[in-house]
Amino acid sequence: MTGVRDAPAGRRPDPGTVDVLVVGAGLAGLHTATLLAHRGHDVLLVERRARLTGAIRTTGIFVRKTLDDFALPPQHLGPPIRRVVLYPPGLDRPVTLVSARDEFRVGDMGPLYATAARAAADAGVRIALGTRYEGRRDGTVHLAGPEGPARVRARFLVGADGARSRVARDLGLDRNDHLLVGAEEVFEIPCGEDPPTFHCVLDPSLAPGYLAWVVNDGRHAHVGVAGYARRFPEGLRRALERFAAGAPGLSGVDRPDDVERRGGPIPVGGLLRRISCADGLLVGDAAGAVSPLTAGGLDPCLRLSELAAAVLDDALRAGRPDAVRHYDGAALRASFRGRLLMRRGLAQVRTPAAAATAFRLLRTPFGQAAARRVLFGDLSFPDAAPRRDSSPVRRIGAGGLA
Ligand SMILES: Cc1cc2nc3c(=O)[nH]c(=O)nc-3n(C[C@H](O)[C@H](O)[C@H](O)COP(=O)(O)OP(=O)(O)OC[C@H]3O[C@@H](n4cnc5c(N)ncnc54)[C@H](O)[C@@H]3O)c2cc1C
Repeated sequence: MTGVRDAPAGRRPDPGTVDVLVVGAGLAGLHTATLLAHRGHDVLLVERRARLTGAIRTTGIFVRKTLDDFALPPQHLGPPIRRVVLYPPGLDRPVTLVSARDEFRVGDMGPLYATAARAAADAGVRIALGTRYEGRRDGTVHLAGPEGPARVRARFLVGADGARSRVARDLGLDRNDHLLVGAEEVFEIPCGEDPPTFHCVLDPSLAPGYLAWVVNDGRHAHVGVAGYARRFPEGLRRALERFAAGAPGLSGVDRPDDVERRGGPIPVGGLLRRISCADGLLVGDAAGAVSPLTAGGLDPCLRLSELAAAVLDDALRAGRPDAVRHYDGAALRASFRGRLLMRRGLAQVRTPAAAATAFRLLRTPFGQAAARRVLFGDLSFPDAAPRRDSSPVRRIGAGGLA
């Protein structure tokens, strides 16, 4: 932040200038910033949280496609999960699906963000924690950091500031208006006899429009609910309490009094159409890059960040800001059509009775094949970024995180 502090009153401030200012050090911001710094650009990454290991907003389930394509640090990933158990309201006669492959691993997100930040810093990214983006006026970005207000000029502004992106608003880009809210409790558990399992409960009285879940990978339990905010009969917190009191998959596990709490909004309206302009662009949740059906956003945010970095690199090298128009959400959005339709279907299931009826389909071979495709299939966010190397595995950060 040196050189970008406010000038004393009465004097014109001389704002520092950077190539790219990235707002938000979630996975999208960290990955975009690191890729740009690797390509030789001057990048400042600002994050309002003082520590990246606190106030985490994700369960951290990484799917097989991500684990195959990105080098995540194995020491910060839980054991592989192959087993998914689906439950109707009342938890009666669940349906178990087992994959022949390792399908999911849960990231230990605090250390994972910290490792990604180290890789970003090693690549040359300047990271300002505890620093809030406060707005952009006349091409100058206003920040509020631990040492007070600061201003900076950036050739490009990247909004990696989550589902309710202020950068999107300031750049006049599209904003998420179709959101779920989710909350979960996380706690350590003793290693049990059961295989690592992802339990999903379809009950709109607990999770209206989405799922309640327990992920028990033998190291940690994640117990959560998500749904449309206005449809929780007694609110999100009460729904989580009710679910946690009788959650499946935790027999023999004592819930400690002190649990980590996570939560936040999840955009499920599909990738936004206008995600770039001559002054900048959006990545991750800010761009709506989340599967409308599964609400998974970690894989999309990594893949879209690669496209963003490639486009900004071209724009900076060519000195032509209009090059970012190739970063077009409307074109990419087409591949989400099927998932958007299924989201609409899921949103229509409004009562436990309707969920129980729909659940009957999961007892048929056809329904189970469809569920397998969603849970174990190879669907992921479209890979639109041109690859700059021949390695089949992309590294996240300088020299990779692994
Ligand atoms: C409860 C829950 C569980 C989830 N579980 C999964 C899962 O298991 N698997 C999966 O694939 N997806 C999951 N998702 C979705 C996934 O977590 C997100 O899609 C993904 O983390 C988005 O990353 P991001 O970097 O775009 O945003 P974020 O991780 O939200 O990062 C945005 C960052 O911007 C910062 N910020 C915001 N405003 C400002 C500002 N004004 N100034 C400075 N900094 C700012 C925030 O502090 C934050 O650190 C879950 C979401 C929720 C809410």
